[in-house]
Amino acid sequence: MSDLLNTCNVTIMNSQRQKPLTPWSLIILFFVISISVLAAGFLYYRFQKKTLLSEKQLELSAINDLKIRQITQWRIDRIGHGTFIGENILLIRKYSEFLNRPANNQLKDDILHSLKSLTDNFDYCNVQLLDPAGKARLVYPDQDTFADEYLEPLFPGILKNGKVVLTDLQRTGKVESVHMDLIVPLVDHGIIDTSIVGILALRIDPQKILYPLIQSWPTPSKSAETLLLRKDGDKIVYLNDLRHINNRDFSLQKPTSTPKLPAAMAVVGITGTTDGIDYRGVHVVAAMRKIPGTLWYMVAKIDRDEVLYVLNEQTRMVIVIIVLFILSLGLFLGFLWWNQRVRFYREKYEAELNHQLLVKHFDYILKFANDIILLLDKDLKIVEANDRALETYMYSRDEFIGMNVTKIRAPETLSQLPEQLSKVNENESATFETVHKRRDNTIFPIEISTRIVNMDGSRFYQSIGRDITERKSIEDILKDSEVRFRKIFEESPFPMIMTGKDFGIIRANSSFCQMIGYQEEELMTFTFRKFTHPDFISTDELSLLRLVAGEIPIYRAEKKYCRKDGSIIWGSTTVSIIRNNRGEAQFFIAMVEDITLRRKAEADLLAAKEKAEESDRLKTAFLHNVSHEIRTPMNAIIGFSTLLSDPELSESEHSQYIDIIFQSSNQLLSIINDIVDIANIESGQVKLNLKEIDLNSSLRNLNKQFIYKEKKDKIPVALSTGLEDQEAKVVTDGTKLIQILSNLISNSLKFTVDGQIDFGYIRKKDSLEFFVRDSGIGISSDNIGKIFDRFYQVHGAMSRQFGGTGLGLSICKAYVNLLGGEIWVSSQPGEGTLFRFTIPYLPA
Ligand code: ADP
Repeated sequence: MSDLLNTCNVTIMNSQRQKPLTPWSLIILFFVISISVLAAGFLYYRFQKKTLLSEKQLELSAINDLKIRQITQWRIDRIGHGTFIGENILLIRKYSEFLNRPANNQLKDDILHSLKSLTDNFDYCNVQLLDPAGKARLVYPDQDTFADEYLEPLFPGILKNGKVVLTDLQRTGKVESVHMDLIVPLVDHGIIDTSIVGILALRIDPQKILYPLIQSWPTPSKSAETLLLRKDGDKIVYLNDLRHINNRDFSLQKPTSTPKLPAAMAVVGITGTTDGIDYRGVHVVAAMRKIPGTLWYMVAKIDRDEVLYVLNEQTRMVIVIIVLFILSLGLFLGFLWWNQRVRFYREKYEAELNHQLLVKHFDYILKFANDIILLLDKDLKIVEANDRALETYMYSRDEFIGMNVTKIRAPETLSQLPEQLSKVNENESATFETVHKRRDNTIFPIEISTRIVNMDGSRFYQSIGRDITERKSIEDILKDSEVRFRKIFEESPFPMIMTGKDFGIIRANSSFCQMIGYQEEELMTFTFRKFTHPDFISTDELSLLRLVAGEIPIYRAEKKYCRKDGSIIWGSTTVSIIRNNRGEAQFFIAMVEDITLRRKAEADLLAAKEKAEESDRLKTAFLHNVSHEIRTPMNAIIGFSTLLSDPELSESEHSQYIDIIFQSSNQLLSIINDIVDIANIESGQVKLNLKEIDLNSSLRNLNKQFIYKEKKDKIPVALSTGLEDQEAKVVTDGTKLIQILSNLISNSLKFTVDGQIDFGYIRKKDSLEFFVRDSGIGISSDNIGKIFDRFYQVHGAMSRQFGGTGLGLSICKAYVNLLGGEIWVSSQPGEGTLFRFTIPYLPA
């Protein structure tokens, strides 16, 4: 069994990871954030650097322009000053006088004094007065410092042009310091002629004004400086004193071909701003320009490092911050990862603990499992089996292990094995039912659930089997009971249907189909509503819902059904509900008994009973009436007969009494006739006596009888005939026809107070239609249907007032029907009544 356990272990272990996953997402996140921050920092630095450098270049360019303007202005001032001296005629004549009379000490002192005043008040360090031949005649403060041979070649030209000349910066052998000279020709523009008196040479010390002017810088800076340059052949001569090295003697010179040297660019004519390397070999930002009217070039420059100093400082800070940020991010993400690892190993540890528990539990389950558990190799040999298997198949472990599974199969099921195996191989698992065999060859049904397990690269079948003998027998019982139910249902003489919980018909037996007229297939597309009479649908639905809710155990009702042919039948219905084991409604079974005949019999019975009661009531009324109707004329006959015996009766009284007795007798006879007639009709003894009659003359005779009464009652009775006299010979029972008309006219006279009565007939094709119309009290619609019933009188009391037994019209109806016709009435209360009846027209 431990192997089986291992199988599970393998499966469980395979589903778990041994190592935590490499946190690629964290690593990628780290690099993305770090690279983004670095790139942003770098771009910011580049942008700032470019901005700073271009700003500085603009500033240098402005400073350069300023310096050039100042130097140009200084030179203009100097030349202007020279021109001013050269045009001072008084001074010139004084100089001329001295040159002509050098022994005049007084004059010499005066001139020396004026020369001293020039050195004291301007930036001249030495002043020399020369004669027109260029020989120095007077020098202040001394001769040695002034002596300079470069001037001598210039004099002839200056004297010839008569113009003031400002020389370039010089450093000659005799004069050690750098200087420049302002040469002023002294010309006397006299009245007679113009004569050259001499030359005044004023030596300028650049240290005094020019160099400070160049070196001064508008903003504080550690490295900024301005360079004054001159091109000397293929060399650049730095003319001014420099900030970083001593250049009092023009010692700094560079070849014009020096690369990236701003000074070299300036002297080859490049103006503007640039990045370059200065005379010290340091990276600088510079602006260059030529000074107009001179051989000089000016370069203003500043060290790049100074320009970028603040930015570099900030950048260093930013770099530190970025490095710190990246480190923190790394630490944070590392912490997350570490946490993940800790959680992973903790979960793994817990899972391992659970696994151990599970293994123990699993082992326990296997040992005491109720199911058979087998492990088969690919050749279907039993590799492992649990105790339950050994017990079921009745083998010892040694016998069982290694046995082929076909040995425990019932031989008749072996043919199914390949198909079942291929199903398992295809889907990795399958469940099927088969039959197994024990050692004693007894067999039992079993449900097998097999799945494939892989162990150490080999495939095994792990089968769990359950003995389903009991289940099978229950299933068989259920199947039997299902068959029985179906049989009972199908063959029941009672109409039955089965519906789903949605009331849709699921099944209907043949009795039901016969009763309702639909085929079962048709019914299965309906709900019960289709064939239930509309009057009963809502009650049915409500009751079925109550049934579902469990409020009533069963539903019984007598209701009407609509058959397929449209006829209505009555059914006594009993509906019961079938629920599943969770108590949910599943089906309804309705059993219907066709009670149409019973219902009809009941209705007939009721009608008959009502009729009998009515008849009884009518007879009572009739007897009451008859007794009254008979007693009245009888009393008259008896009373007046007695009076007749009185000898003192007058003649008229005598004949009046006889008349009353006669009328009363007639009345009595008429009543008796009616009763006899109706008795004959009832017993079916009335026979027709058909013979030829002259209809018109019979009717005229009848009319005459009523004319007599008309005179008495003042109600005219008019006859109209529908046939000519010669055509009015017809075959019929004349006595009955006249009795009918006589009854109707008597009624009209009875119920008419004033107006008139018409009677007669018209011919209608094959029949004669008779009519009796009056303008009497009429008959209400409630009573009009009943007046032909025997003994019926509309108002008993009123009829009594008018007399009658309620038999006249029923006799008329019976006679009309006997003659082969129909009788009917139409009436309007208060306006009159019209009776019509037909008889066949049989001409004689
Ligand atoms: P009866 O002998 O009481 O007249 P009938 O059968 O002849 O019995 O008539 C039945 C009832 O029909 C009468 O009681 C009367 O109420 C009603 N009836 C018959 N004829 C007329 C009519 N012409 N006008 C009004 N009511 C009539």
